[in-house]
Amino acid sequence: MLDTLIVGGGLSGMTVARSLHQQGRSFQLVEARERLGGRILTQSASVGGKKANFDLGPAWFWPGQDRIERLISELGLGAFEQYASGTLVYEDERGRVQQGQGYASMQGSLRLRGGLSALIEVLASDIPAVSVRLAHRALAIVPFPDAMLTRTEASASGQMMEIRSRRVVLAVPPRLAAANIDLGAAMSALQIELMASIPTWMAGHAKFVAIYERPFWREAGLSGDAMSRRGPLTEVHDASPHEGGPYALFGFVDVPANSRTDAAALLQACQLQLVRLFGAHAVQPVELMLKDWAQDTLTAAPSDRAPLYHHPEYGLPKYLSSLCDGRLLLGSTETASQFGGYLEGALEAAERCVSAILK
Ligand SMILES: Cc1cc2nc3c(=O)[nH]c(=O)nc-3n(C[C@H](O)[C@H](O)[C@H](O)COP(=O)(O)OP(=O)(O)OC[C@H]3O[C@@H](n4cnc5c(N)ncnc54)[C@H](O)[C@@H]3O)c2cc1C
Repeated sequence: MLDTLIVGGGLSGMTVARSLHQQGRSFQLVEARERLGGRILTQSASVGGKKANFDLGPAWFWPGQDRIERLISELGLGAFEQYASGTLVYEDERGRVQQGQGYASMQGSLRLRGGLSALIEVLASDIPAVSVRLAHRALAIVPFPDAMLTRTEASASGQMMEIRSRRVVLAVPPRLAAANIDLGAAMSALQIELMASIPTWMAGHAKFVAIYERPFWREAGLSGDAMSRRGPLTEVHDASPHEGGPYALFGFVDVPANSRTDAAALLQACQLQLVRLFGAHAVQPVELMLKDWAQDTLTAAPSDRAPLYHHPEYGLPKYLSSLCDGRLLLGSTETASQFGGYLEGALEAAERCVSAILK
């Protein structure tokens, strides 16, 4: 019988898969999307034959996050520091812009050369392709005395499948799993309620990227960092690749998820704000990108649309720690106690699952 079924091919699920493969354990991974990476999403843009990658999900990790630093160096990937030299820009409620105000909140943060999807690509190349099923959504997880049974549906054909395994690693954010997967046979109503109460980190956010041929803000002595009390972007940073152009600025959109209904109008308002913040050169982007994670039902549950005003205290609640006699393990970043919510937390959660499996 299959040893482990991994549900979810984000950083956490993929790391579990890679470790189990290295240990010679049998596994299958089912991923609902047609791509791997989950909240890690990188898109390319080209200018004059030069292509560059831009992160629409996470972009940063930080010194002291040892697992991700180790993984990146083990995989032969390169990191670089967030661009932060130069003057900051601050915009008040009335749209008045001042230079030299505020602080470079992301100075010292690290980014991955080629964008974070480079990490996903290399991880994927370490996992046998036959062990991964894309576009297969888990619908239900049911424990039986001799096996765990997971029902899945193929998104293209609607074809249903039943996969039997010794155990299941559920590497899907708990709230999303509680909303979309029938866990009624594997958990009590209270446990499902507890899962639903755990917010999915950053799921209510939208990220905007504006790509330019020249880094005109750098040329004007600006770092690309901006804070705004007017919006729609609250926080803007340089998102240019390490190796040069095309260059980019990105910002987090501070419009409540339920009001982000008109993407075209939002793109235009974000671009106008960049003109207020950085001047007339911002008028002519090569390309604009917007990823609204709150509208993505494979990341955000409906209750994730409410804004989070602080970083939740994550970790694996004791009440969810030995589900189905240890045959159902929770593995997304939200279940990590030290770095919950972050990329590092996805690796931390994966590490906990793998060590439970190998025990
Ligand atoms: C805009 C944004 C910015 C962020 N910035 C940062 C940052 O700078 N630094 C940082 O450390 N972290 C950041 N994060 C958080 C970071 O993205 C996450 O910590 C990390 O990617 C979580 O990985 P995961 O594998 O735990 O979950 P996910 O990436 O959410 O993976 C879960 C996977 O499960 C799949 N799935 C869902 N439902 C099913 C189902 N029913 N059946 C099968 N598969 C299913 C999904 O498609 C997905 O691939 C950011 C997130 C966002 C959205």
